Amino acid sequence: VAGSASSAAARAGVDACTVMHVDLDAFFAAVEVLDDPTLAGRPVIVGGTGNRGVVAACTYEARAFGIHSAMSSVEARRRCPHAVFLPGRFSRYAEISVEFHAVLHDFTPLIEGIALDEAFLDVSGARRILGSPPDMGRAIRDAVRDTLHLNCAVGVARTKLVAKLASRAAKPTPSASGPRPGPEVFVVLPEQELTFLHPMPVRALWGVGPATGKRLSSLGVATVGDLAAIPVETLCRVVGVASGRHLSALAHGEDDRPVVPLQEVKSVGHEETFAADLHDHAGAHTHVVRMSDAVGTRLREAGLRGRTVTVKIRFGDHSTITRSHTVAAAIDSPRAIGAVAGQLLDGVDLSTGVRLLGVSLSGLSHSDTDVHQLSLLDDDRVSGDEEPPRDTGPGPEGEGATEIPRASDAQGQGWQEVELAVTAVRTRYGHGSVGPATLIGGSGPGVKRRGDTQWGPSAPTPSPSEPADETSRHGKET
Ligand SMILES: [Mg+2]
Repeated sequence: VAGSASSAAARAGVDACTVMHVDLDAFFAAVEVLDDPTLAGRPVIVGGTGNRGVVAACTYEARAFGIHSAMSSVEARRRCPHAVFLPGRFSRYAEISVEFHAVLHDFTPLIEGIALDEAFLDVSGARRILGSPPDMGRAIRDAVRDTLHLNCAVGVARTKLVAKLASRAAKPTPSASGPRPGPEVFVVLPEQELTFLHPMPVRALWGVGPATGKRLSSLGVATVGDLAAIPVETLCRVVGVASGRHLSALAHGEDDRPVVPLQEVKSVGHEETFAADLHDHAGAHTHVVRMSDAVGTRLREAGLRGRTVTVKIRFGDHSTITRSHTVAAAIDSPRAIGAVAGQLLDGVDLSTGVRLLGVSLSGLSHSDTDVHQLSLLDDDRVSGDEEPPRDTGPGPEGEGATEIPRASDAQGQGWQEVELAVTAVRTRYGHGSVGPATLIGGSGPGVKRRGDTQWGPSAPTPSPSEPADETSRHGKET
């Protein structure tokens, strides 16, 4: 009887583990090996080859030489001169990423894509059909391997915080005699969380960058366990109230951030119909700035950012147009949104009178993992007449809408995929690791590039006097 009671408790613990973090192993490098099997078992490095280049990804065979992502390519070459260096193929990575997310979708629609090769899943609704969370983790691993012929690691836990760290624990380990396979699926039961978390370095926690890390080490905090032992008041004094409370909660294993599938919120917008038609740009501009403020505020409350600003204008005769612009990096500030919206408005002739104005932001990503992230699930390849923001009032949406193609559409879908990939790379490896997104995509004539490749100029190149490219705050690719 006692035995069945404790096994019921164990089952309850396992059933609480409804969050999964799935992460493809050595993604870019693994894709290169997949497409060229002669590379199998060799140290392969994807990244910039020049003096300022950085490693974007590398195989476990390269990691055995101490090479990791965000390391300078010069250093990587010094450590492993016989490694295969490749410049990378963004559109191929983006293509496989789409397949990866499709495989995950077979298990649950509740997927939060956080990078090309990484996603959180909420399997709470799916578990009765597909078995316990650990069973499902193994099924996902198998499906990824069977479909993509790539390996992944699956972390299974109660929270996003622990699931992400668990997937890291599921990874292979590099060694001189070849990579040692990891457990592939790593489950942390609720009662194991603190034992799992506390020995980890504080930098393993989201939100602990170099500056916070330094302040924490001034308190003698090296591990998550050290952090948990510090009174929250002390922590708040040193790193600020919001950050102190957040870190203290994480150190105690408390993380209530839900898995949020981004396709549920496609845009955040605000629009208004005026009592009397507006005729002047100055008046319209004031309204657009005010609405941008409302949009930015709501985005921040929701922990979202977006890349595409759309202004909607309905004229006195009820004809409606939209104007959109996509910026390179996701924004959430009212000022930034207002600046783009204002410029879009400036290009429109308002002399026939404006009945309604709207501002919205789409191409949304989460801002809560302290990076500007991109969801592949939120496909923003729409043009001018996209569906209306979900919160708008009643009215004939899109009636008489005029399709306004975006500048970027002219460059084709392939280019957009490249841009998606660039954003994801920046997310993981730091903004400076990739050249300006508008310059990526091969051989645009007359475009002045910062570097010859995405990860810094190719060799040979004069030695730069500038500091090295910014590297990631997020540590190694796994
Ligand atoms: Mg990965």
